[in-house]
Amino acid sequence: MPSLTNYDGSITTTPQQIARPANVAELQAILKQSDKYPSPVRAMGSNHSLTPCAATPGTVIDMRGMKKILKIDPQAMTMTAEAGIQMIEANKALRDQQLQLMLNIEIGNLTLGSAACCHTKDSLDAVEFGQVSSYITSIKWVTPSGDLEEASATKNPQLLPLIKSSYGLAGVVYEVTIRIKPLEIVRFNYDIRPTAELTQQIMDDKIATNQCLVCWTVGRTTVIQTRNSATTLENDWLAGSRQFGWNFLGAFLARAVGQIAPDDTDPAAGAGVELGFYRLIQALGGFTLHDSDKMIDYSRTPPNARYAFTFWAFPRNDWVKNVQGYLDFADAHFAQTGFRCNMPLGAYFVRKDTNSLLSYSADGDIFSLDPIHAPGTRHPDAWPKFLDAFNAWAAPRKGIPLLNQSPQVTKAQVAGAFGARWTTFSQWVRSVDPQGRMLNPWFADLLA
Ligand SMILES: Cc1cc2nc3c(=O)[nH]c(=O)nc-3n(C[C@H](O)[C@H](O)[C@H](O)COP(=O)(O)OP(=O)(O)OC[C@H]3O[C@@H](n4cnc5c(N)ncnc54)[C@H](O)[C@@H]3O)c2cc1C
Repeated sequence: MPSLTNYDGSITTTPQQIARPANVAELQAILKQSDKYPSPVRAMGSNHSLTPCAATPGTVIDMRGMKKILKIDPQAMTMTAEAGIQMIEANKALRDQQLQLMLNIEIGNLTLGSAACCHTKDSLDAVEFGQVSSYITSIKWVTPSGDLEEASATKNPQLLPLIKSSYGLAGVVYEVTIRIKPLEIVRFNYDIRPTAELTQQIMDDKIATNQCLVCWTVGRTTVIQTRNSATTLENDWLAGSRQFGWNFLGAFLARAVGQIAPDDTDPAAGAGVELGFYRLIQALGGFTLHDSDKMIDYSRTPPNARYAFTFWAFPRNDWVKNVQGYLDFADAHFAQTGFRCNMPLGAYFVRKDTNSLLSYSADGDIFSLDPIHAPGTRHPDAWPKFLDAFNAWAAPRKGIPLLNQSPQVTKAQVAGAFGARWTTFSQWVRSVDPQGRMLNPWFADLLA
């Protein structure tokens, strides 16, 4: 039986069948034939999730054969495309018409189908919303029994927030309409401060005076990267080095050092090199780029230059306390286990957003903590053990995990984070798929 492994190599699934539909009729036929295509059936995009949300011992539907752009409408400012297209491919077609997506998420390899029905986050384009599904106006899908269904502002609008959180549990998304806008230039600037000196007031001022921002904490120093509109391209050569940093150099170096350094080496010792890069960009006055060029293409990244991460969202007003507390937690974990993440700690600011049932910012603005790590072959258990410890640290701090990007979360952590919304979601999933055609073991364990 063929095996499929996700991007960071942490999850391998061995389905009995891998189906590759080319059109909606073939997709319907797969869902209707449970003898030929055994349950559970999971749609798969580019398999970049860090949890087993797409894994199944039954049937994987590889959506990459369905990636046609059906319409770009510059009047309505929407694009309609098949679900298997990657965001970076969609943006290339839009760029030819001087257009772009509303939210140019960092990961260009995210498929539109996954974006429509799963958690996503971006904070350097999150002027309004930081979740891609919030810009999606219409979704069409094949139900678990093989029928066609759709939701938009005019058709079944009550289903939109549900399908936007459905993770393929209500069927397979095959067509999506998403909002677009004219191509823009954006500017990134950098402010570097000791993490201990951060206050909520500083962060509130940053949020109020910039369109959006993200933070990177290296050692005990935090880089606040802000984003605003611009009119001309300046230092745009730096955009290329940023691409290279994310899809190769950062993880490659972190892993290489970890492979050869003595066992008791603290990865924090390398913080100066990383901060030097940020200080250089700061000294150059930041840089600008076309907004869609902010997407990273990870498709050619070799396995030794890949990284893994986790993401938990926290209430905005707790962030300074949380990031400072996290550094103490990371020190204590290092003292106890000898493990520390070897890449910067990310932190995404995302505004309140009630467009999907399981939105992690439904109750208010959030600021995340995203430990990032390039695992090596030495001590393969160290990162999974850290994830368990971090999940246990995050959950009581009103943290909310993402079901595709927070590995090893438990049922109690998910139920505690989403509260009554998790019960509503679980009941809805069971009502639209009473036979469990789409329900893989991972979701079966998590549902209320
Ligand atoms: C290096 C790296 C960087 C990343 N950066 C970001 C980032 O900046 N922002 C962010 O939000 N995420 C990021 N991610 C996480 C990633 O975007 C999400 O996990 C996303 O869901 C992956 O999309 P995919 O197309 O690979 O979906 P998959 O991983 O293949 O599937 C994810 C889920 O969607 C379901 N699904 C897929 N297609 C369909 C469909 N057509 N219909 C119904 N269900 C479907 C699957 O069953 C599964 O439950 C990153 C991941 C990696 C490895």
